[in-house]
Amino acid sequence: MTVRTRIAPSPTGDPHVGTAYIALFNLCFARQHGGQFILRIEDTDRVRSTAESEQMILDSLRWLGLEWDEGPDVGGPHGPYRQSERGDIYAEYARQLIDAGHAFKCYRTSEELDDLREARKAAGMHLALKPADLALPSDEQERREREGWPHVVRMKVPTTGTCLVEDMLRDTIEVDWAQVDAQILLKSDGMPTYHLANVVDDHLMGITHVLRGEEWINSAPKHQLLYEYFGWQMPVLCHMPLLRNPDKSKLSKRKNPTSINYYRRMGFLPQAVTNYLGRMGWSMPDEREKFSLDEMMTHFDIQRVSLGGPVFDLEKLTWLNGLYIREDLDDKAFLKALLEWAFNEEYVGQILPQVRTRVETLSQVAPLAGHFFSGLPEIEEGDFDSVKLGREELVKLLQFLVWRFEIAPAWHKEVLLGEVKSLAAHFDLKMKDFLAPVFIAITGSAASTSVMDAMAILGSDMTRARLRHAIEVLGGVSKKQAKRFEKEYRELA
Ligand code: GLU
Repeated sequence: MTVRTRIAPSPTGDPHVGTAYIALFNLCFARQHGGQFILRIEDTDRVRSTAESEQMILDSLRWLGLEWDEGPDVGGPHGPYRQSERGDIYAEYARQLIDAGHAFKCYRTSEELDDLREARKAAGMHLALKPADLALPSDEQERREREGWPHVVRMKVPTTGTCLVEDMLRDTIEVDWAQVDAQILLKSDGMPTYHLANVVDDHLMGITHVLRGEEWINSAPKHQLLYEYFGWQMPVLCHMPLLRNPDKSKLSKRKNPTSINYYRRMGFLPQAVTNYLGRMGWSMPDEREKFSLDEMMTHFDIQRVSLGGPVFDLEKLTWLNGLYIREDLDDKAFLKALLEWAFNEEYVGQILPQVRTRVETLSQVAPLAGHFFSGLPEIEEGDFDSVKLGREELVKLLQFLVWRFEIAPAWHKEVLLGEVKSLAAHFDLKMKDFLAPVFIAITGSAASTSVMDAMAILGSDMTRARLRHAIEVLGGVSKKQAKRFEKEYRELA
């Protein structure tokens, strides 16, 4: 048997370090067994999936040196590797399940579903809806079918008993069937849900081992049942521990930069980031902290993964990155890294229009444009003294901007300007006054190049990181404040 593993990201945002972490372990597992590693794009959520996000995922994984054997961009014998291009396949398999009596068309309206759930709740029962709960009287079912009501396809699930799922790293996982609902497989728009598409594709693509984040454990019983219904052998499952913040909470962009773009922009070396991700819950047999991807592949052993939540610690990563710069880069390689990072035509070219009108000699460029080549600016509380806003108002302004930017549909100057304008109106401030503290947070000084352009050029991650940094410098947001802010922000939205 050839080992085949995969990473199956959904292209719905920034390329997450968690995706790279799971990709790395899948790649190492495959290579260690002389197998193949596949990249599949799970873009069945047509509203949230974007082509830009997909491109960023491919770019950032490649930047980290995590190469795949088959995928949407390199092709392969099991394509297409984008689920949005495989719609007919899922519809066919859903039909097979219906014909075999393992799935059914469900014509329930969303109001009826709410009522059903309410009724269960009132009766103190588990909220999982079962096929029997969802069934309509047969004449009503026929009527809705005849009249072409919108419907979904759901899988049948047992009502009682326990489902046992094996996992490479864990004891047998036990789930009561009572908790598992009649999962939707095909949505009313004909698109499959994650569950159906994932199982069908893993099978058709010959995946033998599924290494994925532990947040998917709850899906495992449904997947196992689908494999049984189809009469297919299920891949071996392995649920990896989730990455955590230093305070042990789940790694989230609210506390830590989670986008690979941020680490790239911050000037981390890809080999250091990959090395550090390899340290997440795993260690080399000799426990050394610095190792290359090749070394990791050679010595990989999944049983050395420990389940205690691995902490993604920026300080540790920064330390490791320093080792790489000092020990691995000779002057030539150092120069190459710098050129690739920011001192290249493409990036510097974006900055020239920002400085051209503001300098009289070339030697004035570097001091003026320094913020385009730095990480978090060295600012302190006193730098905001010139801003005529109370402390709470000031912090709130920055926090609201971070939240708005988190959900900005695209990162263009016009989009950012729209966000800034609407918030300035909310705070009843002139644009100039609204932008004054933003200016300091982003450029680190009170006079520099245009802040709107700077944010557009620096990108979403670095911009948000600098705004968050300014909030910290100003004393942060207390729990009480956070509550107030969130309430006001919700009303604003
Ligand atoms: N599309 C899922 C994700 O975004 C894949 C989960 C899995 O590996 O099964 O992570």
